[in-house]
Amino acid sequence: DLNAQWAAAWMRDAAAAMAENRQRLIDLDRAIGDADHGENMDRGFSAIVEKLDADGVPATPSEVFKLAAMTLMSKVGGAAGPLYGTAFLRGSTAVAGKEGLGAEDVVAFLTAARDGIVSRGKAEPGDKTMVDAFTPAVEAAQTAASAEASGAETLSAAANAAEAGLAGTEPLIARKGRASYLGERSAGHLDPGAASTTLILQAAASAAG
Ligand code: ADP
Ligand code: MG
Ligand code: MG
Repeated sequence: DLNAQWAAAWMRDAAAAMAENRQRLIDLDRAIGDADHGENMDRGFSAIVEKLDADGVPATPSEVFKLAAMTLMSKVGGAAGPLYGTAFLRGSTAVAGKEGLGAEDVVAFLTAARDGIVSRGKAEPGDKTMVDAFTPAVEAAQTAASAEASGAETLSAAANAAEAGLAGTEPLIARKGRASYLGERSAGHLDPGAASTTLILQAAASAAG
């Protein structure tokens, strides 16, 4: 079962991934943005881990996600903080009260999280944002869950699809966020937010396995 301990392990694995990929995310953001994405994400996820260490792990995944949402909103500046904060807050609501998540709950979480990012940031698929990693992840999760995959398998399918979505951002011209100021010069680079989304979803899967 994907319980509160899994959700906490997810946050710890994501924090480790952000620390490890801090420079890579900075470099991706330097190419088409303002070179702060790695710093932003590392700061936000370390703060989540600090809170879990200080207060203990809450009783349900939903409460872990709510803690993550509040922390990301207050600690991560720029575009990504409010977007990921909204994602985890909507995802938290989608699985409220459940002690363990199955495949359908994973789909509900990811769908609500993606919809939260879209309602907040108004990006469409193809705009070269984190939505280009999140949307294929949601679709792959739906397909896996309909094929009776376990929750953990559903997360793996989502993570793999996010990684493919990230690769697909390279040729795109950015239409949202700072990278859009570059116009056609934004093409030829991976989107940093799609890269961090992929790391977050890979951490969800690795914490489950
Ligand atoms: P900032 O651009 O404010 O410095 P970050 O560097 O932390 O913020 O995050 C940049 C990432 O945020 C981009 O790579 C992109 O994926 C994502 N992003 C920016 N604007 C939007 C938006 N309107 N909708 C979805 N994602 C967005
Ligand atoms: Mg930036
Ligand atoms: Mg910035």
